[in-house]
Amino acid sequence: MISKKYKKMLEDKSIIRELAEFATERGGKIGYENVFDYSLGNPSVPVPKEFTQAMMDLLSNKSPAELHGYSPSLGIPSVRGKIAQSLNRRFNMSYSESHIFMTSGAAGAVAHAVRCVTDPGDEVLTFAPFFSEYHPYIDLSGAVLKVVPPNTEDFQINFTLFEEMLTEKVTAVLINSPNNPSGVVYSVETVKKLADFLYKKEKEYGHEIFIISDEPYREILFEGVDAPYVSNYYDNTLSCYSYSKSLSLPGERIGYIAVNPACVDSDLIVSMCGQISRGIGHNCPPSIIQLAVSEVVDLTADMSVYETNMNLIYEKLIELGFTCVKPDGTFYIFPKALEEDAKIFCQKALKYDLVLVPGDGFGCPGYFRMAYCIDTEKVERSLSALEKFVKVEYGK
Ligand code: PLP
Repeated sequence: MISKKYKKMLEDKSIIRELAEFATERGGKIGYENVFDYSLGNPSVPVPKEFTQAMMDLLSNKSPAELHGYSPSLGIPSVRGKIAQSLNRRFNMSYSESHIFMTSGAAGAVAHAVRCVTDPGDEVLTFAPFFSEYHPYIDLSGAVLKVVPPNTEDFQINFTLFEEMLTEKVTAVLINSPNNPSGVVYSVETVKKLADFLYKKEKEYGHEIFIISDEPYREILFEGVDAPYVSNYYDNTLSCYSYSKSLSLPGERIGYIAVNPACVDSDLIVSMCGQISRGIGHNCPPSIIQLAVSEVVDLTADMSVYETNMNLIYEKLIELGFTCVKPDGTFYIFPKALEEDAKIFCQKALKYDLVLVPGDGFGCPGYFRMAYCIDTEKVERSLSALEKFVKVEYGK
């Protein structure tokens, strides 16, 4: 008999995937350049040339056995050391190689981190709007994901509802800043308030409450925005990072967990990750990619196009009368739909070849996401389609 659990998951259709499929199909008919596909968070800028050069140098100079052999299960020691040093330089931390665990992207990092700090039945709190893949990362671990409703005013944390939901059962709080889908960065004030509150609750409940900080967009920040590094504010923090977005490397599946050295049992957590990997069969990220990223740890791709796109879209949305919090980073924007049901709103938009994603799956009905990691020229052309859509359907 096949697994009931996984079979049931087939019933939960991914709206994002469906929309992306629509875009591909429609593109086949009218030319993909005419479909304004804002559905997927797939980076559109090239990897830095230094990464390509590092790959070429490795292929020319290193032995195939080293490049294509198994990585140690915690990651290649020299790579972990270089990452630790880079984080120490940039965020004034004191990581060593022993605090870094190499993963397959942020997905692998979050899935491991959750398993490190929960037992089945424990609760993990996250804040809407949230990345919907948190459900499979957490549900399949046996922990229970609970979602704190959004603060739609500015998409910072809704502390009133958070306090109500932070019961003794909660052992981890999963945050994502810069945020997918809102593009908002948690302010220093928000992070400090969160940390103070968790310290208080740890004392009251007599057990740790970890922050799992999911940070794949850490480097995609717009002018004048500085993102607080969460571990600087809270000891029991596991930072989950990915090179998917900052180096435009999503297909290479590479990232890491950085365990704050001040965290409880920081000397055990990375080794525990090695055991979790054995259990979920998701171990030893590719050696060659680990070695190549370790040559460019302080670099990012040129991501300036995302800010250009954001400004164009944000200004048009405001001109058309949308309510919208201006993103601080990422390549997402999350405006309020022009009718209560964002699914209907996004369905109507398809008539204008605008592929928008309803906020329901992000725990924020009534809003929609645009992933503007596409060419600026296409963004510019999409604005007249957006204008037409709003005028014809909503008389604005
Ligand atoms: N977390 C968030 C908030 C994301 O948006 C994504 C990918 O879009 C991930 C995690 C997974 O990232 P990766 O592709 O590095 O596994």
